Amino acid sequence: MPIQILPPQLANQIAAGEVVERPASVVKELVENALDAGASQVDIEIEKGGARLMRIRDNGCGIAQQELTLALSRHATSKISSLDDLERILSLGFRGEALASISSVARLSLTSRPASQETAWQASAEGRDMQVQLQPAAHPVGTSVEVLDLFFNTPARRKFLRTEKTEFFHIDELIKRLALSRFDVGWTLSHNGQNVRRLKPAMTPEQQLQRVATLCGRRFSDSACWIENQHQQLKLWGWLLPPTAIERQPGCQYSYVNGRMMRDKLLNHAIRQAYGDWLGDDQQPVFVLYLQLPADEVDVNVHPAKHEVRFHQARLVHDFVVSALSSALGQLQPQDLQAQQH
Ligand code: ADP
Ligand code: MG
Repeated sequence: MPIQILPPQLANQIAAGEVVERPASVVKELVENALDAGASQVDIEIEKGGARLMRIRDNGCGIAQQELTLALSRHATSKISSLDDLERILSLGFRGEALASISSVARLSLTSRPASQETAWQASAEGRDMQVQLQPAAHPVGTSVEVLDLFFNTPARRKFLRTEKTEFFHIDELIKRLALSRFDVGWTLSHNGQNVRRLKPAMTPEQQLQRVATLCGRRFSDSACWIENQHQQLKLWGWLLPPTAIERQPGCQYSYVNGRMMRDKLLNHAIRQAYGDWLGDDQQPVFVLYLQLPADEVDVNVHPAKHEVRFHQARLVHDFVVSALSSALGQLQPQDLQAQQH
């Protein structure tokens, strides 16, 4: 076969292999876009575990009519414009791939209105060349993205979808994690027309703890200790369950780096190490923790789905987390043990 440039749809479908693993990964990309757009309210509607429909609506800044076509093209982003920007990312997105990838493996429509426009416009991209169709629509200021029939044109991938219940479980889990990353945002989530979550913006510490209780359970919010620590430009805060309150079944393990949810090996290792011998082999740490450091101290462009980061000063970050948490746990230990004896 001669060398040829792949048609846009196929190139996007290949890229989609990296970011669109399952319905929850679509929801993650779309919600992150809403947050990057400055939304204070995000509403998510799901049907049939996301395989039939995912609709994410926000009240963010919107997209101008003349930019809708670009928003759907690959490598098109409003979030970075130089290597310098890439080295200190403040937004959740920056790859300019999500909308193009998703629209190559589902029927996607994007409806948006910025405050400067009288009417909204709707765009969708179809076919091999991903031709964009535009039409006027009704929508308040903000954006809705509707994704229908995920993987309808990639049957091999559709086969990997699990049951409706499992896929929705992953979506709900994702929304929990996202809602804990942005207390100032209001959230709703529905499945097959039924309300599953309704979270009002949580501004005061009491409202925030209430949100933690709703999402991680009362047992966690009642027993968790609040920690807050700073060393130079590194900051760590959040909630941590004392060892004596940890049960055998696993609990929340949510960590965030500069507001981005993570499954980071280094952080997990540091957290486990801080618990040390206080935890048995059959027990797992339970925590909701936020780490903040200067944006140019972490590389977020490590994984297409951005699950991982690379710390420039990995040792320093690791040791800071261990010492901040073990001192918090150390201070806790005596009363905590007493409490257990009673
Ligand atoms: P990225 O988020 O990496 O920039 P995406 O493909 O997810 O790439 O989105 C492309 C562009 O479309 C974004 O840079 C942004 O300008 C615009 N966009 C996408 N979703 C929204 C939204 N909900 N509100 C406002 N703008 C959006
Ligand atoms: Mg994005």
